[in-house]
Amino acid sequence: MRCILCQRFSFPLICKQCQALFLSPTLFTRTLQPNFEVYSFFRYSEVCDLIKTKYSPIGKAVFDIFGKQMKQYLPKVFDLKEETIVIPVDDCVKKGFSHTAVLAKHLHTIPTFHVEFSRLKATHSVTYSGKSYQYRVENPRQFLYRGKKDTSVILVDDVVTTGLTLLEARETLIRAGVTVRFALTLVDARHIDKEKGAS
Ligand SMILES: [Zn+2]
Repeated sequence: MRCILCQRFSFPLICKQCQALFLSPTLFTRTLQPNFEVYSFFRYSEVCDLIKTKYSPIGKAVFDIFGKQMKQYLPKVFDLKEETIVIPVDDCVKKGFSHTAVLAKHLHTIPTFHVEFSRLKATHSVTYSGKSYQYRVENPRQFLYRGKKDTSVILVDDVVTTGLTLLEARETLIRAGVTVRFALTLVDARHIDKEKGAS
């Protein structure tokens, strides 16, 4: 097959050269609330075309490549010695696969990371893509948490835009006596958000 970026012959969907050239992560830190940081690895503008494949037939393969990149990059920027419970945000299967679950599956291969799948589900199925900040505020996802209580975790999601989803997820966990140390997201999309007048 051919690399979807450069069209050269390649066994992976994106060839090694293009992965090195266009998919090298950089750490972005965003403080959503005091003591609640979100660490992201790409800006939306850098990878928007690839992120848009998420509902297409190649979406899973693209997110698999992103997941590998995240996993390889994490030890360079974090001390991963501590045992850590990882909770993917709403990793239920939609249209064949869950983007967050694909990323979490790669994080699960880090020896000290223990991913608890299907623990945090949105009971209100709402799509935020392209929606205003006001719409997002008025239509919360209403998370249900079915995991361990009185513990400490990190959250994983594919994209952070306004941060409302992560804040709502964190509040749900706090009510269950769970401390959220921080969140990891593949992409920070705050810049597209400003253009739309959101926060
Ligand atoms: Zn290529």
